[in-house]
Amino acid sequence: MIIDGKAVASGIREQIKLRAKKLADEGRPAGLAVIRIGDDAASEVYVRNKIKGCTEVGISSFSYELPATTSQATVIELIRELNSRDDVHGILVQLPLPKGLDESVILAAIDESKDVDGFSAKQTGLLALGTPDLVACTPHGCMELIKSTGVQIAGKRAVIVGRSNIVGKPMFHLLLAENATVTVCHSKTRDLVELTRQADILVAALGKPRFVTADMVKEGAVVIDVGINRVDGKLVGDVDFDAVSKKASYITPVPGGVGPMTITMLLYNTVKAAERSVK
Ligand code: NDP
Repeated sequence: MIIDGKAVASGIREQIKLRAKKLADEGRPAGLAVIRIGDDAASEVYVRNKIKGCTEVGISSFSYELPATTSQATVIELIRELNSRDDVHGILVQLPLPKGLDESVILAAIDESKDVDGFSAKQTGLLALGTPDLVACTPHGCMELIKSTGVQIAGKRAVIVGRSNIVGKPMFHLLLAENATVTVCHSKTRDLVELTRQADILVAALGKPRFVTADMVKEGAVVIDVGINRVDGKLVGDVDFDAVSKKASYITPVPGGVGPMTITMLLYNTVKAAERSVK
């Protein structure tokens, strides 16, 4: 079965819309500030889609386009101003940043309660402690997709390929919290195929086109493909979809799987942060 990320995302967005409307009716519309620095073409598309997503669900958006030459002090000054604004509940700095800007310093300047990307040390730590607050959007979206299958997670063997701070590591904590037995693999992992073959739930997040082949997958596994790779002008995932889909019980396509969930969970976090600020 193919997991339809667009359909799952659309169901969640309907709920977000209702919550955003309630906030707007109370005179406190949810607001997301998006900062883009430099002229990275992919970032421009991502930011445009985030703003579009806000409009669709009734979240106010504030877009800041800064030149690549902007100083770190100026970016931090802008973040501090946004931290103090009552109409801004989420702040997002689109990555990657131009050379010369320190990503960790800039992200650390965002008030934790407005960190809707969930990348700050505090949000990452809360997730690791089993008390998640604003969860990183892509892994959160992956969990929603796994849950949408109805497959029980507790007790299952889950394997994640990739250990980045924004996907692999938070995915580990989310699956662990659902009582899966989780293995995280990376570029130095020995006998990767042995491990992936044991996975009831396999998450591929390594950024290598069609890396996960059918022989690496257990019959009946749930396969979540986070990868976004452009090959000959076409988007492909980290999983060899055609072959693996014949073995998996559930699988996400690329595009149309994890992708639509990431922005949806960003909108979810923004509404959550806004509701909390009202309280
Ligand atoms: P990173 O490059 O930050 O991390 C890749 C990870 O994969 C690293 O941990 C690396 O190991 C591991 N890895 C690389 N090669 C291998 C290998 N041969 N065997 C095992 N592990 C390997 O990537 P991200 O986590 O940022 O992104 C992963 C993919 O997901 C990309 O395609 C990206 O475009 C996509 N993505 C999609 C999103 C969406 O919305 N759908 C959002 C975010 C990312 P090591 O640590 O040892 O180097």
